[in-house]
Amino acid sequence: MSDLVERVRRPASTGSNRCWPCTIANGLLLTIVVGGLALTGRRLAAAFLAIGGVAAIGLRGYLVPYTPRFAPRLVARLPIAAFDHDDRADGSLSAVPADGSGGASSRPTPSGEDVVTALLEAGIVVPVEDDLALADSFREDWRREMATLRGRNLSALTASVDDLTGPSIDARVGRDWRGRPATVLLAGPNGTTSLPKHKAVAELAAARALESRLEDERMRLAAGRPLRSLLERCPVCDTDLTVSRSSCCGEVTPAGETPSEKLFCPDCDARLFTYD
Ligand SMILES: [Zn+2]
Repeated sequence: MSDLVERVRRPASTGSNRCWPCTIANGLLLTIVVGGLALTGRRLAAAFLAIGGVAAIGLRGYLVPYTPRFAPRLVARLPIAAFDHDDRADGSLSAVPADGSGGASSRPTPSGEDVVTALLEAGIVVPVEDDLALADSFREDWRREMATLRGRNLSALTASVDDLTGPSIDARVGRDWRGRPATVLLAGPNGTTSLPKHKAVAELAAARALESRLEDERMRLAAGRPLRSLLERCPVCDTDLTVSRSSCCGEVTPAGETPSEKLFCPDCDARLFTYD
């Protein structure tokens, strides 16, 4: 039996690679078809389809062919906002451009190049062969700050983010479809963005650990996103992070190209960074 299960299982779309919009879309379609069969008196067919369908979604990620192509659009119309699977929406503390009304974020966000230069000059990151790595002392301070913040709920994290981002950007708790706190929402005069708890803990802790190292407040906020790409452990559960290349959620990967690499926590199933 377990042999059969292993042969049927598709690891690329299950476990930590599971795409929840695909799972939900298939669950909804299965419910509609099973309900239709049951209502028209075909109860045995309905029962077989229900058992087979649930097993297929559980073991293979989805039942209906081409689900990853249509599920994101379908689920986007549902009042569900708790998924962090959209690469285009990589929320960050520095993602909302501010106006000139004062505070830390009143001047333009520094460019990626400026941030990396500042991090290298201050010895926060160090070059290792062709890549960058965290300096040991900064890694320790950052981890200590993450350990302090991870136990806080989203309201407390949002309050800390609000203090940090200055008067022209408003931080609020974003809620999921059940009304439960799900993200830190940032709204400024020039747009909005949202950070799930994992990213909020990582970037807030980074800004705190940078306080004694970088004088420029804008730089401390802007450093959060690039530093996230160098995380080694989960900001929330401290598990070692993994890099995956699985394609998910309608991410359209042109033929001949590989999906982009993602840094994620296998225990929380949370994505921390998507590499270009
Ligand atoms: Zn985790």
